[in-house]
Amino acid sequence: MSETLFSGASQRLDAAVKHTKISEDTIERLKYPKSTIKVSIPVRMDNGELKVFEGYRVRYDDTRGPAKGGIRFHPNVSVDEVQSLAFWMTFKCAAVNIPFGGGKGGITVNPKELSLAEVERLSRGYINAVADFIGPDIDIPAPDVYTNQMIMGWMMDQYSVIKRHIVPGVITGKPIAMGGSLGRETATAMGAFYVMQNMLPKFKKEPKSTTVAVQGFGNAGSILAELLFDAGYKVVAVSDSKGGIYSKDGLNIPSVKKTKAETRKLEAVYCEGSVCNLVDHEKISNEELLELDVDVLVPAALENQITKENADRIKAPYIFEVANGPTTPEADAVLESKGIKVIPDILTNAGGVTVSYFEWVQNRMGYYWSEEEVNTKLKEKMIPETESIWNIAQEKKISFRTAAYVHALDRIELAVNAKGVKSHFEKV
Ligand code: NAD
Repeated sequence: MSETLFSGASQRLDAAVKHTKISEDTIERLKYPKSTIKVSIPVRMDNGELKVFEGYRVRYDDTRGPAKGGIRFHPNVSVDEVQSLAFWMTFKCAAVNIPFGGGKGGITVNPKELSLAEVERLSRGYINAVADFIGPDIDIPAPDVYTNQMIMGWMMDQYSVIKRHIVPGVITGKPIAMGGSLGRETATAMGAFYVMQNMLPKFKKEPKSTTVAVQGFGNAGSILAELLFDAGYKVVAVSDSKGGIYSKDGLNIPSVKKTKAETRKLEAVYCEGSVCNLVDHEKISNEELLELDVDVLVPAALENQITKENADRIKAPYIFEVANGPTTPEADAVLESKGIKVIPDILTNAGGVTVSYFEWVQNRMGYYWSEEEVNTKLKEKMIPETESIWNIAQEKKISFRTAAYVHALDRIELAVNAKGVKSHFEKV
């Protein structure tokens, strides 16, 4: 594995730079995060004890607009992880032409060990700590792993308490009743679905004859699995942090979702009304899911899932990265040598930030769109950007990942140039 997640992330930049004309100024600027803050968050626990949690906010780059990126609550959150996620956000916003730079935040915590009241105090405490570093024109957070609408609502409320006026545009992914956008909850999955619907026919894959395995059954993974199921794809395996289920005949995803929502357990079930019965299936580990003989693999959990240790055993010819950073650079090289096509995270999961941008626009207008309008606008964004990245990959004979970075870099370069680069000042 790469030395750090961030050094692995930066290798993507090195690969792309070779295929486009980028000024030294841009390359130099993009090597470093603009600012990184580490905060301590004291929380009064339900038993009266005071616990202090560590949190981060990274503004990687804001050349193209205010920084944008989610907040993650996870025991593995570290400065290295948050910087990498903020780096990816910079390229993701540029790849799909959202007028934002990249940011990210997180708290090192296992929220499953906290009561809901403790999670609320932690969320408000995080905003107390970072309030001077975020804002609708500075850096706009959103949900990520183990954070959700309710948490975004508490955070927006806390920011508004500090500022003494309501500031809905400071955070996206909020509850609809607090200025959230219709379609935000489904946006990451919907965006990935549009990318898949556009690309799979180019690979001559039709829904009926295409098997899919999805790792991670949270916001992004479970909704995408359902969209694929509804469109006629055979979703044969899904998993969550506790492991996975596999049925060669395909899983009934709406039934699996319903049972997971009610029991918090991932079960291979088929439900008729309120009666759910187990269907023929195998229990598999997350590692086994990745190595299944399927047509399409969708990592939708965490980073560093496909590494040099298991890349050689991956059989799916197409990988659509819904998670951020699920494939390491070493694994990329192995997959490429096997002819496996990887559709990168910065394109596949960009639907989330796109509708976050729409939410921010609606907050600033004070005028709200229907879900249909949101989804139409999302599709209008995702399809042309997917086409452009496809074309760059074909013309330059490079991987889709490198093509997506080239596409993003060209846009970042325009913004850097607009402020003047070395060659400009040499002429003065
Ligand atoms: P989530 O918290 O809703 O779900 C995460 C899922 O991953 C859960 O099902 C969890 O059980 C599972 N999981 C956790 N650890 C696992 C492990 N070791 N192996 C397998 N599964 C594991 O999170 P989400 O919002 O769905 O995010 C998933 C991924 O998508 C993350 O990489 C996130 O950065 C990325 N993403 C999310 C959004 C968004 O809008 N939600 C946008 C862009 C990218």
